[in-house]
Amino acid sequence: TRSVPGIASSAIDAMLKRERDRFLQANPTSAKLAEQAKAHWHNGVPMHWMLDWSTPFPLYAKEARGATLTDVDGHAYDDFCLGDTGSMFGHSPEPVVRAIREQSTRGLTYMLSTEDVPVVGQLLSDMFGLPFWQVATTATDANRFVIRWCRAVTKRPKVLIMSGCYHGAVDDTFLRLDNGKPANRAGLMGQIYDLTQGTVVVEFNDLEALERALKAGDVACILTEPALTNIGMVLPEPGYLDGMAALAKQYGTLLIIDETHTISTGYGGYTRMHNLKPDFFTLGKPVAGGIPCSVFGFTAEMAERMRRAEAEAGPGYSGIGTTLSANALQLHCMRANLSEVMTPANYRHMLDLSERLARGVEAEIRKRNVPWHVSNVGARAEFVCAPTRPKNGAEAKAAMRPQLELAVHLYLLNRGVLIAPFHNMTLLSPATTAAQVDHLVATVGGCLDELKAA
Ligand code: PMP
Repeated sequence: TRSVPGIASSAIDAMLKRERDRFLQANPTSAKLAEQAKAHWHNGVPMHWMLDWSTPFPLYAKEARGATLTDVDGHAYDDFCLGDTGSMFGHSPEPVVRAIREQSTRGLTYMLSTEDVPVVGQLLSDMFGLPFWQVATTATDANRFVIRWCRAVTKRPKVLIMSGCYHGAVDDTFLRLDNGKPANRAGLMGQIYDLTQGTVVVEFNDLEALERALKAGDVACILTEPALTNIGMVLPEPGYLDGMAALAKQYGTLLIIDETHTISTGYGGYTRMHNLKPDFFTLGKPVAGGIPCSVFGFTAEMAERMRRAEAEAGPGYSGIGTTLSANALQLHCMRANLSEVMTPANYRHMLDLSERLARGVEAEIRKRNVPWHVSNVGARAEFVCAPTRPKNGAEAKAAMRPQLELAVHLYLLNRGVLIAPFHNMTLLSPATTAAQVDHLVATVGGCLDELKAA
């Protein structure tokens, strides 16, 4: 356990024990289902991340609507996890439900275009400012395909990423700086390749390191989030993203902005709100309202260079695309979600509430004199257990307090507040209410009181 200023480690251990007992008592049906599931699911779960929650055994959901989730033992939760962004625009938003219903009897996947295709192309272009688009099924896939395109059009081998980044299950991105040296990430099972051959890693907010890396002339693309959101939260310093774009241009490297999480920033994502000019743009998770779907967009110049690469490769190319991608259901749901759910009015609601949440949690922290802070990119906020904002992945990692975070998560969950595992992150949806935010803020305050009293 790393020490936490102002909080005794015995208080953290005691809270964890108390909250585990409380969870055990309160969730007999989840306990029973978790036991049954062990018979045929590896480690008892259909996907291993379900073991990463703070609970001593997996919590079983019954249903969710808007920003409220109910479990099989009848508890209701204010859901600030929202499927770690997949349901960022609320669980089962009405227009998406209608789209699913409409498409459900007309066939789900044909590998043919539908009447929705021209409409969705226009919607994507209007919302994000890039003229050309393709559809994939997960953000992971969108990033993999775009990396491939960048290597194909530049004929350069390397991808540049930020230490502490996450872009999905993309092998090229599973590296970290380890004492300043790039290395495969710890725990990278089954990876036989030395990933440093194809990937360069630098720290975020360091333009000098970026320039040193790009100078070699072998970097096809930079893949980054505009703010790192998967290692706590690291915001770009003023001028950093502009500097990155200028260096990319200078050295003939393409820029990919992954908006999968920062789509929370506001209408059109961080790219539109801050007038970024990426060559490629990727977005997954909530883009079709919770139906598995992702998109990638690119400039007219890229489209032209991609066509040239295609002509050189000859007919048909491999490694980009999957059969279920761009299916009729995805397109119909995306149409409903982009035009009726991801609206400026819904963003306004989310951003107003986000202010309330960030200022509220900050006040609770300040009242108790705990050296923490809150960062947010629009409707996504993160409380960080350190007094100052981390400048890069290394500082953000050093600020993490896994044991404390586990205790806080479980305390909140036991009181009807759900936040995503492996983040101290809260997400707001168009369906989230001020009362839900106030309950979260008060519960964080109560948690800090208990930790400090012990
Ligand atoms: N990009 C970013 C920025 C992400 O945070 C994630 C997932 N957390 C992904 C891509 C991958 O998304 P998926 O798991 O849906 O493929």
